[in-house]
Amino acid sequence: MKTMTARDTIKTIKTHYIDGAFVESHGQEVMDIIRPTDGQVIARVTLGDEEDTRRAIGAARRAFATYGLTTKEERASTLRRLHQAVSARIDDLTAAMVEEYGGVVQFARPIVQSGANAFLAAEKGLEELPMTQSWGKTIVTLEPVGVAGLITAWNANALFICLKLASAVAAGCTVVIKPSELSSLQTEVMLECLDAAKLPKGVCNVVIGRGDVVGAELVRNPDVDKISFTGSVAVGERIMRDGAATMKRVTLELGGKSPTILLDDAALDQAIPSALQMAFMNSGQACAAGARLLVPKSRLEEIKRGIRDAMRVYTVGDPADPKTAIGPMVSQKQYEHVQFYIRKGIVEGAEVLAGGEGHPEGFEAGYFVKPTVFINVKNDMTIAQEEIFGPVLCVITYGSEDEAIRIANDSKYGLHASVLGTDLQRAHRVASQIRAGRVVINGMTDDPRAPWGGFKYSGVGREYGRYGIEAFLETRAILES
Ligand code: NAD
Repeated sequence: MKTMTARDTIKTIKTHYIDGAFVESHGQEVMDIIRPTDGQVIARVTLGDEEDTRRAIGAARRAFATYGLTTKEERASTLRRLHQAVSARIDDLTAAMVEEYGGVVQFARPIVQSGANAFLAAEKGLEELPMTQSWGKTIVTLEPVGVAGLITAWNANALFICLKLASAVAAGCTVVIKPSELSSLQTEVMLECLDAAKLPKGVCNVVIGRGDVVGAELVRNPDVDKISFTGSVAVGERIMRDGAATMKRVTLELGGKSPTILLDDAALDQAIPSALQMAFMNSGQACAAGARLLVPKSRLEEIKRGIRDAMRVYTVGDPADPKTAIGPMVSQKQYEHVQFYIRKGIVEGAEVLAGGEGHPEGFEAGYFVKPTVFINVKNDMTIAQEEIFGPVLCVITYGSEDEAIRIANDSKYGLHASVLGTDLQRAHRVASQIRAGRVVINGMTDDPRAPWGGFKYSGVGREYGRYGIEAFLETRAILES
C-alpha cells in the first residue's frame, strides 16, 4: 500500500469552475484531504464561500436564458459531448476515488463507468419523453425548471455528479454543482471533463465547498429553482425545510437499511454470495447496501456455515489491488461510527459470526474495519434499524413468507431491497409487497432506464432515465378559448 514519503508533494486545489472558466476561490478556508489507507494528508483544498456560490448561480441564471430554449437535438449533443469527455477520464476518476476515498478498484471502476454511461441513458430517456402533447385547443409542454443546485455525497461522488448533471441538462436546466468536500480529487478531474466538453458558458458550474456554506447558499438563494441532493436524512430534512422559504423543488436521495429476503427455496451456493455482495458492496458504504439479511429459521444452521465459508472472499486490503473486496472507511469519523454500532450490537445481545470490533490485523494505520456479520439479530435492535454505512451485516430469522415481508417493511427506510429464491413467480410476489423504490431479484443488477429513489425516509423523487429528467421539468398547459 502507498505510504507518504518526504518526497511526496501535497497537491493543492484552489479553483472552482464558473461561467466556462477555472476561477480562483474567493473563499479562503483550507481543508486537508486525508488518504484513508494511512491517514496521511494528500491534498489541500481551498473551499468556496457564499460569494463564489452567488457568482456561479449568476452564471447559471444568465445561461438559462438561452440553454432553457434549446431543442431536444441540441441537448442530446450536449449529453454526447459530456459522455465523451468523462469516458476519456475513467482511469483518472477511478484512481482519484481509490486514493481519496479508499473505494476498492473492483467497485470504483464500474461506478465511474456507469457515471459516464448516465449521459447516454439520459439521451435515451430524453428521446422517449414526449415534450409536447396536444388535444383540441390545448397544448401541454414540459419546460425546464430553471437553475438547479446539485449536491452530492462522498461515497460515489463522480457517479452522482454525472447522474444529476445528465438529467438536468437533458431537461434544459443549467446547474451549480456542490460536490462532497471529501471528494475534491475526483471533482478536480470532473472540472477538466466539463471544460473538455465545451458546453456553452455558465451551463455547468462547480463550487467546491462545505455543505453549511456553499450548499446552504444554494438552498437559500431565490435564483435557484431546484435542489437535487444525495446524502443523509438529517441534511435532506434541512434542505426540504429551508428550501420551502423559496418554494424549491427538491429531489432527495437519502439513506437506507435495505433488506435481502432469502426465501426457503433458494439455492444457498448462489444466494449466500449474492447476499454478501449486496451487504459489502463499496465496503458497505453504499446507500443500497443489503444490510439486513432475512433468512428462514429452518435453514439457519446451513446458512451460518455458508456465510462463514463465503466470507473468505471478503478480504481487507489495499483498495488499489483488484483482489481487495473491502477497503478502509472514508474517514476517522466514519471508522468511529462503524465501531460504535459494532459495540452497540454486542451490547444489545447480537452474536458476532465474523469480524467484530477494532482494526483488522496488519491494518492499524488507516480507517480499516473488520467486515462483520451479526446473527441472533432482532429487527428492533439499533443495528437493524439505523444506517451504519459500513461492512456490517445483520442476519435476522423469520418463520413464514408473510413474516419476512413484515420484517423487511418494518424500517423507516425504503430505498432498495432484494429477493433470493428459485421459484421466480413467488420471488416476484414477494418483491411486489416490499415498500422500496427498487427491488432486485436474484442478485444485484442495474438498469439505467429504471427509476432510482426511495419510499419513506429514503427520499423524495426519482433519478435515472426519463424519471430522472422529469424531476427537472415543469408542466405548462396553453388553452385557447
Ligand atoms: P451528508 O448529508 O453529510 O452530505 C451530503 C452532501 O450535503 C455533502 O456535499 C455535504 O457537504 C452537503 N451538506 C451538508 N450540510 C448541508 C447543508 N446544511 N445544506 C446543503 N448541503 C449540505 O451525507 P454524506 O455523509 O456525504 O453521505 C452519506 C449519506 O448519503 C448516507 O446516509 C447515504 O445513505 C446517503 N446516500 C444516499 C444515496 C441514494 O442514492 N439514496 C446514495 C449515496 C449516499
